[in-house]
Amino acid sequence: MNIPPAKSKKMLEELIENCKKHLVNVNEELITKSFEFSLEAHKNDLRASGEPYFTHPYEVAMIVATEIPLDDISVVSALLHDVVEDTDFNLEILVKQFGKEVADIVDGVTKISGLFKGQEITQAENYRKLLLSMVKDVRVILVKFADRLHNMRTLEFVNQDKQRRIAQETLEIYAPFANRFGLGRVKWELEDLSFKYLNKEAYEEIARKIKSKRKEREAYIKKFSDPIVEKLEEYKIKYEISGRAKHLYSIYRKMVRRNKPFEEIYDLFAIRVILDTEDRNECYTSLGIINQIYIPIPDRFKDYISIPKTNNYQSIHTTVVGPEGRLVEVQIRTKQMHDIAERGVAAHWKYKENKNTSDKELEDWVNWIRDIFENASKEDARKEILESFKLNLYQDEIYVFTPNGDLKRLPLNSTPVDFAFEIHGKVGFHCIGAKVNSKIVPLDTILSSGDQVDIITSKNQHPNKNWIKFVQTHKAKSAIRKWMNKEEDEIVAAGKDIWERKAKKYKLSFSNQEFLKLVLSLRFDNAKQFFLSVAQNKTNVDDILTSSLEKEKKDKTAPLEFENFAKIARDDVGGILVDGKKSGLMYSYAKCCNPIPGDPVVGFITTGEGIKIHRKTCSNLIHISEKESHKFVSVDWPSAEESLFVAGLTILGEDFPGLLNEISHSIVSYKNTNIKSININTKDSAFEGSVTVYVQNLEHLSRITDRLKKIRGVYSVERFESA
Ligand code: MN
Repeated sequence: MNIPPAKSKKMLEELIENCKKHLVNVNEELITKSFEFSLEAHKNDLRASGEPYFTHPYEVAMIVATEIPLDDISVVSALLHDVVEDTDFNLEILVKQFGKEVADIVDGVTKISGLFKGQEITQAENYRKLLLSMVKDVRVILVKFADRLHNMRTLEFVNQDKQRRIAQETLEIYAPFANRFGLGRVKWELEDLSFKYLNKEAYEEIARKIKSKRKEREAYIKKFSDPIVEKLEEYKIKYEISGRAKHLYSIYRKMVRRNKPFEEIYDLFAIRVILDTEDRNECYTSLGIINQIYIPIPDRFKDYISIPKTNNYQSIHTTVVGPEGRLVEVQIRTKQMHDIAERGVAAHWKYKENKNTSDKELEDWVNWIRDIFENASKEDARKEILESFKLNLYQDEIYVFTPNGDLKRLPLNSTPVDFAFEIHGKVGFHCIGAKVNSKIVPLDTILSSGDQVDIITSKNQHPNKNWIKFVQTHKAKSAIRKWMNKEEDEIVAAGKDIWERKAKKYKLSFSNQEFLKLVLSLRFDNAKQFFLSVAQNKTNVDDILTSSLEKEKKDKTAPLEFENFAKIARDDVGGILVDGKKSGLMYSYAKCCNPIPGDPVVGFITTGEGIKIHRKTCSNLIHISEKESHKFVSVDWPSAEESLFVAGLTILGEDFPGLLNEISHSIVSYKNTNIKSININTKDSAFEGSVTVYVQNLEHLSRITDRLKKIRGVYSVERFESA
């Protein structure tokens, strides 16, 4: 079944000969070894065409060696590229026999091959990125291009369904890729072959028309070229002229896009003059020759030799009026310029496709490939370049499949929970488990590109607060936080309910102020914390109420309570209104609570500092013992206070770029409010800030608070006492 020894010997010789012709270094021994290894490994297999399977890896290696030549390792990898997938040999054997470099490339090619199986190509751009995100060595892509090219060239042997699927994949994924990678020739061949299988009718019609016009066309080109040829020879310029091949698919696409018949597209003649010289001046000499013979159209002239395109494409383009008044586009370039354009560098994608940051990486990579081709003769430069084949494209994201084959893009290190929220909030909320590539995995499993993820949900499942520790996407994080807050709100409400019912039972009632005082005295930061603790049974409400009841009894017998003290004190001092002017008494505002006009306030008589004005809610007042209560004095704000007062706000929210800016803008843009200080802490994506501002009064402050609350991502704004 396998290839007869005499024939295989000849094949090997031919491969090595081609390698020597196109590559700088050729490790003959390694190529021979991999040739024999692959021949043996595939000995029992046949291709769809009935040929021994080995003809395929061999032809792929041949393409790598002659059509996209890079190095001998790529040729070796091409010979071995189907061994792991199709034979009994595994990667470990390849590592042992051929080293890790080769094995890694083969592994990469194998993984890509498995990727698209059974998937409908619906999001081509994502697929291309997925493919790139999985490739860490550029040679994987080159071998894959060669593999695909050979499969396309032999596609006639597989069934129609497979033909269509592979052709579609090639047209949508591999051809644009080849184009981006600057492999002009590979690109058009992949396109034409795909076209042939996807739209046989149109393909055959165009092919037939080209054929029927060929003679006429060739005759015209000859008529056009003859006088040029004569002159070039006169000037002793070595040249090659071709009536530039127009590819079937590109003609078809132009017909569709411009809605024009075949003839109008095809009759635009184009001729390429390739000069066998290193001297670019000969391009200009040739241009002069052509312009002597045919009249040029001035605004169609482009000199990409003096000013190369950003991808280093070099050529002169001119359009002239040929025989019978037909327009003919002429491209003039040196052989080297032509090679670069065809084989590696003319990356037209740059002008045609949208750019983003990752495309910048791709662009760098293309530049780097170009360096390889341009410096192929300089041994040192080449070695240095070849040492690092690391690709780093789209490696900060992963692409995973839904069970339906849709692709989802997620940040690196994403988990099934991120994926679940990416699909739908509901899926995220009720996700209870996940299958990755049909295996049940924990929810914090880190996904990789190409994984197929299936989320298992249950109506009774709810987000777990531990999820926040491992999820990566903003979507998942904020949904989980929101849910946790909502859950907390419910618990707080339950706690409040317990409190109110019990208080009623004890026939106790608290004003807001009294309640807050009580809560603070129990060492809670605020009422919410207290209610949470009550709901979670961490605080015994009965104990608190019992002691409150006793205190109330005592208070009734006590001569004075807080308000009474103040009243008496006021009478003692003579009923001042603290506006300074009227009373003539020294006063100042307490730094611990920073009252601002509009706050309920109370004065406290100090020694040496006059009356200190506190907010009635100031926590310091609570700790003033009853003995000192006679020092309270009732005070009131004057009707018009001109000064500015310091007030502090705590802002909590979800961090996002520009948040700080929005916060300060929303403060400053209201009544030119001044900011005294601003302090920001971010942790993960949570944001905690404190801002102190100068305000006129409570109204002013509450307007600012309202504005801050409206900022996207901010979920609470609260005043704090000490600024
Ligand atoms: Mn293959």
